[in-house]
Amino acid sequence: MQKNDLVTVAIEDIGVGGEGIGKVDGYTLFIKDAIIGDVVEAKIVKAKKNYGYARLMNIVTPSENRVEKPACPMARRCGGCQIQEMKYGAQLAFKEGKVRGNLERIGEVPTELLDKVMQPIVGMEEPFHYRNKAQFPIGTDKEGHIITGFYAGRTHSIIPNTDCALGVAVNQKILEIILHFMENNHISAYDEEKHKGLVRVLIRYGFKTDEIMVCLVINGEKLPHAEKLVDKLCKIPGMTSITISVNKAKTNVIMGNEIKLLWGQTYITDYIGNVKYQISPLSFYQVNPVQTEKLYGLALDYANLNGNETVWDLYCGIGTISLFLAQNAKQVYGVEIVPQAIDDARNNAKINDITNAEFYVGKAEEVLPEYYKEYEKTHNGETVHADVIVVDPPRKGCEESLLQTIVDMQPEKVVYVSCDSATLARDVKFLRAKGYELKDVTPVDQFPHTVHVETVCLLSRK
Ligand code: SAH
Repeated sequence: MQKNDLVTVAIEDIGVGGEGIGKVDGYTLFIKDAIIGDVVEAKIVKAKKNYGYARLMNIVTPSENRVEKPACPMARRCGGCQIQEMKYGAQLAFKEGKVRGNLERIGEVPTELLDKVMQPIVGMEEPFHYRNKAQFPIGTDKEGHIITGFYAGRTHSIIPNTDCALGVAVNQKILEIILHFMENNHISAYDEEKHKGLVRVLIRYGFKTDEIMVCLVINGEKLPHAEKLVDKLCKIPGMTSITISVNKAKTNVIMGNEIKLLWGQTYITDYIGNVKYQISPLSFYQVNPVQTEKLYGLALDYANLNGNETVWDLYCGIGTISLFLAQNAKQVYGVEIVPQAIDDARNNAKINDITNAEFYVGKAEEVLPEYYKEYEKTHNGETVHADVIVVDPPRKGCEESLLQTIVDMQPEKVVYVSCDSATLARDVKFLRAKGYELKDVTPVDQFPHTVHVETVCLLSRK
């Protein structure tokens, strides 16, 4: 097989990045946008000894899992969605299979046990327009017109598109106002050479409150004629916050630390369940609020609290899970590495009148073991007790030292929320070996049309 060879191939599998996988005379090919069941014509773009990559040229026979027309005409070129051309039911089956496969192979969980504990994946009824946050880069096209849209996969060239199928409808209206304003007032898009201009637009939308935030990230001190823009934007129903973020650093970091108010207030409010959150342009907040509520609802079910428990929420972010659980527990402790997130968590506890949640800044793998040792020292060798420990780590999962401390603390239950089922499986293997039984596993589709999948697991002490 050589570069530029044209082949016809039946797609039989899907890779971790959502690409189709097929074989030609025993030679494995990875083909982006091809899906299981397709027969496609593809052109080899990279040929290695035992496998290669090919570009989809033509669909000879479409799979029964292929949608007739993707919701977004840019689906293939845009880097945001990986599997939008696959029917939603097939996407869910793929994700469920990925979680199960990782638990089986990496986690060494026996098949019979998986048959018992694996619950069907929780999908969305309406898997479009679910994102409450969008960031649009601003640039110019070859004719010098100001454009906004999305980066093509793995590049920095902007594909013009103001109507992302995953974002909320009002994004388009906001972006068009901004583009007109820029054209009419000769405001430049970010210029890499001059290192100045409007860099990007951040839009956030409160699904429960309908409040809208627009934050313009600029590379300079001020936005000329900003009042003209504000005058238009503030008439959009629900507009609550219009701000500027000044970012003059020559880095890839998107947001500057300084937020200047142009109109309204600096934050919007939204709810997950009945807990209220104030979200500023810099706050972390879950991007799919509908599924987040289901995910945390499951974590709450698994924790099965009666009001007398001590709960730790490790990797707590802005305290979303902590505050959700605090309503049903005696005391919740949250641990998070980002200090601003902890500021938000404390503020969110306050505005909800939650007084039984306490937050610590630091690495979970340092804070918890230190707390454990310190407690032992000051309590005559008696060890600190927790009823439930929740973890929601980033993709790399938990450090083994942290898992060991969790085991030492002997909580009845460990609730593991994961965004990477491979590291989840590794950590489940550790916990199972140390006396925890895997009781229940539910994948949740937080990001339809992408290859990502969240999972929540319950482990109980034997
Ligand atoms: N449960 C949170 C989000 C969890 S995302 C929510 O719903 O808001 C994972 C979080 O872990 C991020 O906020 C990240 O900043 C934090 N984090 C990453 N490494 C960490 C570590 N070693 N110790 C504690 N927190 C960490």
